[in-house]
Amino acid sequence: MLYKSTRNSQLRLEASQVIAQGISQEGGLFVPETFPDLSQELPAFLEMDYSALAKEIFAKFLTDFTQEEIAACVDKAYTPEKFGDPCPVKLVPLAENKVLLELWHGPTCAFKDMALQILPQFLTTALKKVGGGKEAVILTATSGDTGKAALEGFSDVPGTRILVFYPRDGVSPMQKRQMVTQEGANVSVCAIQGNFDDAQSSVKKIFTDGELNRVLAEHNMLFSSANSINWGRLLPQIVYYVYAYLELVRKGLVSLGEPMDVVVPTGNFGNILAAYYGRKMGLPIRKLVCASNANKVLTDFIRTGTYDRRREFYATSSPSMDILISSNLERLLYDLAGEDSEVLSCWMKELAETGVYSVGEAVLNKVQELFFGGFCNEAGTARTIRELWEKEGYLCDTHTAVAVDVCRQYQREAGGSPVPAVIASTANPYKFSASVLEALGIVSGADDFENLRQLEEATGIQAPEKLRSLREKEERFSRVIPKEQASGYVLETLGIGGQQ
Ligand SMILES: *Cc1c(COP(=O)(O)O)cnc(C)c1O
Repeated sequence: MLYKSTRNSQLRLEASQVIAQGISQEGGLFVPETFPDLSQELPAFLEMDYSALAKEIFAKFLTDFTQEEIAACVDKAYTPEKFGDPCPVKLVPLAENKVLLELWHGPTCAFKDMALQILPQFLTTALKKVGGGKEAVILTATSGDTGKAALEGFSDVPGTRILVFYPRDGVSPMQKRQMVTQEGANVSVCAIQGNFDDAQSSVKKIFTDGELNRVLAEHNMLFSSANSINWGRLLPQIVYYVYAYLELVRKGLVSLGEPMDVVVPTGNFGNILAAYYGRKMGLPIRKLVCASNANKVLTDFIRTGTYDRRREFYATSSPSMDILISSNLERLLYDLAGEDSEVLSCWMKELAETGVYSVGEAVLNKVQELFFGGFCNEAGTARTIRELWEKEGYLCDTHTAVAVDVCRQYQREAGGSPVPAVIASTANPYKFSASVLEALGIVSGADDFENLRQLEEATGIQAPEKLRSLREKEERFSRVIPKEQASGYVLETLGIGGQQ
């Protein structure tokens, strides 16, 4: 299978090139040329465990990887040591036809582990084919979850180094603690004076700095990214929707061929796009329910066909969804607009220059046929956490709560025949202890470890050891630098300083 770009339909690249490169040269996102049809294979898939299923699906898309390479990637990523069980995900049935798909059993307690544990394996395999034997230097700017998940994924992976920049004033104490205590000989973490945009712009500048890239090449290294638009992060997410459907069949909640709904708490549109791709490949999905928090740019888009980022930005209790530009939407629209890369380039240019674009009636009709968009504000998020705990004894995090609430809105509106709704549960509640405590009506404090202890006391549910043990871990990284010094820091860390 070959890949083209959303902004250049003529392009044809192999999977390894696409994964190594991350983003297309003209700024477009890589998409598969065609999608395999899985519908006839579902009966055979029923017999497979998670790893076997993942290997089957990856083999259809990574056609320039050997079977052995794909197997090695999967076997290194989804281990019981990292995910607590041979199966990395869990399905938990709730009342009223809702089923939570817990995606947060990995090392950092958030769903990004599902992709970021295997991306380093994909990337190093790809670089062996197209990287000329160079060492990959992963640069990441993070507002919290991604940085830690990338650090865990790349920690001690041969042939890679990873440098993470976080805004000194822009991450939670728990998130900071997770990053500065990171183990591994090839990892570095550094705080930037300023906010997330400062960290992000420093990293972008380093990526495009010609001189710096030349110096790296001289030392047999190249910059790479673990960004969420990389195809190597999207592909692993398709697998768990297929797996979830098969589990519903195995549990007798649907018969093979009958549909499910899928509900996803959405930020950058990556997770829900993977579900859409699953549907496109023949997975019986009736509706894709896109759940937003107060930053409801996607809800408005799905309802009106106009994407308008010119609006107030809210810092909410579900920070990983506080996003006004959902990059992966570009891939959906490319598909729905008949793979017309000129139209796509035009919309994306309008977005960049004016902050708004409209897709027109034909595309809007397709969007609405496939998707339901809804949002949940802060009060609704807290109420949902409390209700779920009091009525069903299930403790969920803020992001998952947004999805549960929007699922209810959808079910009320859809009426008709009940179809099981699989809701992506994207973080362990203890990752957001303060907000969850407040939702339960308990006053939280400034110390996240104290909040964690209080939440354990209030619910009787133990926090994951990975979070509890952070308190005792040694802090390895304490550097804080002004953003102008970021490139110097990179050279110094790589041991090739002096050239500046
Ligand atoms: C990243 C993230 C999301 C949003 O996922 P997208 O793929 O960006 O839409 C939702 N919840 C949590 C906890 C996350 O970390």
